[in-house]
Amino acid sequence: MEITTTDLGLAARVQQLTKTFGSGDGEVRALDNVSVGVRRGEFTAIMGPSGSGKSTLMHVMAGLDAASSGRAWIGDTEITGLGDKELTLLRRRRVGFVFQGFNLVPTLDVMGNILLPFDLDGRTPSALERARIEGLVETLGLSPRLRHRPHELSGGQQQRVAIARALATAPDLVFADEPTGNLDSRSGCEVLALLRAASAEHGQSIAMVTHDPVAASHADRVVFLGDGRITADMPRQTAEQISAHMLAADGAGVAA
Ligand code: ADP
Ligand code: MG
Repeated sequence: MEITTTDLGLAARVQQLTKTFGSGDGEVRALDNVSVGVRRGEFTAIMGPSGSGKSTLMHVMAGLDAASSGRAWIGDTEITGLGDKELTLLRRRRVGFVFQGFNLVPTLDVMGNILLPFDLDGRTPSALERARIEGLVETLGLSPRLRHRPHELSGGQQQRVAIARALATAPDLVFADEPTGNLDSRSGCEVLALLRAASAEHGQSIAMVTHDPVAASHADRVVFLGDGRITADMPRQTAEQISAHMLAADGAGVAA
């Protein structure tokens, strides 16, 4: 019998995952034989230079993009080869995603965007869920903006709407692609505290891409990508340790 994702203490994983874009001379190998898992209830930071495959890895793990080869699971369900309909359903029930470009719906106001996961699932939030959404809106400072549409918001406000939307259903898996990239340090800290609480208090599994050593120092684990491969996988690090690692990796890149 095959060992399951749950047996491994994981919430999602990929095995020998390769992802290429294009073909022939123009082929780009965004991920090259990557095997990695997101541990249950853990907050993981994913770091690495621009173009190293961070977004692609999160997209494949979340079932938003298909692998070229290798296997991927969300919980114990293998998503490689799963039909579109089943995959969409699984994703709606279990996965929250904060996109690097936010992906807000331009015709919906802030509240409409935050409630989108419920609408897509064909249901209205319960009293408990409404209370959670109110809490998120409050913490993220969105209360005065609920009736505004995305184009009326700053980049930082749009990013906070995207975060509220990803957390609204309390999914057991949350992927966040540079969720603090457009935020000042104070709202960045609030977002990191939210993600920490989601894992530490609510047992959600969080994977966050970041460039910022301070943001990554909030995570339980730091995974580095370089050129489509995992170059380091370390337990919690201080911001200074992470910066030192980035400098050393840069140096190695220049020397190579
Ligand atoms: P990161 O998020 O670490 O900056 P990405 O995962 O976005 O990196 O990209 C990894 C590599 O794959 C890059 O070389 C990028 O140009 C390429 N890539 C990503 N998405 C696409 C796509 N849709 N079409 C073609 N190439 C892509
Ligand atoms: Mg990216």
